[in-house]
Amino acid sequence: MEKKPRVFRCVIANDECKGCERCVVACPRGVLKLGDKLNKLSFPYVTYTGSGCIGCGGCFYSCPEPGAITIVEEIDE
Ligand code: SF4
Ligand code: SF4
Repeated sequence: MEKKPRVFRCVIANDECKGCERCVVACPRGVLKLGDKLNKLSFPYVTYTGSGCIGCGGCFYSCPEPGAITIVEEIDE
């Protein structure tokens, strides 16, 4: 059976993000963008564009806010 490629996505906790863009700079795939909406602390927050994440962890390790970023691997049951 052919092995399926692994699929990842980056989940941002909007209200934990401070909009520093470290993750945007760290992402080798350019799949994180700072939006123009504000969170409950009045910071603009980063969003995942929806595809292209390779699960490298660059965003997670560059983020100073614990809990702002979670990387999820999509698993087919
Ligand atoms: S895990 Fe890697 S590829 Fe995925 S959003 Fe974070 S930095 Fe980008
Ligand atoms: S590094 Fe963390 S706090 Fe900074 S913009 Fe990215 S998710 Fe937000």
